This record gives sequence, structure tokens and C-alpha cells, in this order.
Amino acid sequence: MEKTPYNPSKKATGRVKNPLPAPVDCRYCQSPVSIAKNSAIYGREYGEWPWLYVCESSLCRAYIGMHPFTAIPLGTLANQELRNARKECKPAFNHIWQSGLMTRTEAYQWLAKKLSIPAGECHFGWFDVDLCHRAKLICEGVAA
Ligand SMILES: [Zn+2]
Repeated sequence: MEKTPYNPSKKATGRVKNPLPAPVDCRYCQSPVSIAKNSAIYGREYGEWPWLYVCESSLCRAYIGMHPFTAIPLGTLANQELRNARKECKPAFNHIWQSGLMTRTEAYQWLAKKLSIPAGECHFGWFDVDLCHRAKLICEGVAA
């Protein structure tokens, strides 16, 4: 049977560490959140797993993708501002481990410590705008 968020892969689901619960209400406007394909946002389907959680309010446009072949959200629901912040701030972090200064895992642990958050919660997809910018400043400091 074809895999969908309604019929996710048990194997893929089991591999996701610290799964976030599926969003029920939008954190911005409290509208219900539903499952949709990303073609609803982009006009065509992208990727091997084109599923999203999306706020039902057309004004809000908050959404978040899912881990491939699961119904587990990649992070918290994000509006345009938060999506931009995550996109803008993550490269400074990637630069740290891609330059070989630390492994990726070490870099997440190091950043978690600097941000005073548990390592299991140190994912850009989980960050709010403020945390994204704090993370960027920290990462730029060490990468400079
Ligand atoms: Zn909303």
C-alpha cells in the first residue's frame, strides 16, 4: 500500500528521535491545522514526501513539512517570518560543522549549551525567530 501520513512507514517513524506531536491548532491564529500536499503551497509537488501540516486560514500561510514517510512534523508550524529566520540563520551553523571544526552532532550539542536549551531541542525547525537569531550570532562568533 502506498505510504501517506495516514499510513506512515513504521520503520521511518521509529527512526525519528524526539518526535514532535502533530500540530492541532495554529500557534499564530488558532485555526485548525490540516494535512495537505505541498502543491497546495507551491503550485506543484516537490520532493519524495510532499506532505505538510498547514494552517487552514488562507491569511496565515503557516506550515511545516514532515519527516519523510512519516506523519511527524519537521518542527513547529512556521509563518513566513519564521521560515525566513530559519533559512537565514541555519547556514552560519552549517558552516561550523561543514568546515570540520566539529562533527554535526558535536556542533548541535555545543550550540544547545550556548543557548541553554536541551540538546534534544536544538533543531532550527524547533526554534522561534528570537532563538534563530541568537543561534546565528553565536555561530558567527565561533566561525569568525
Ligand atoms: Zn494560522
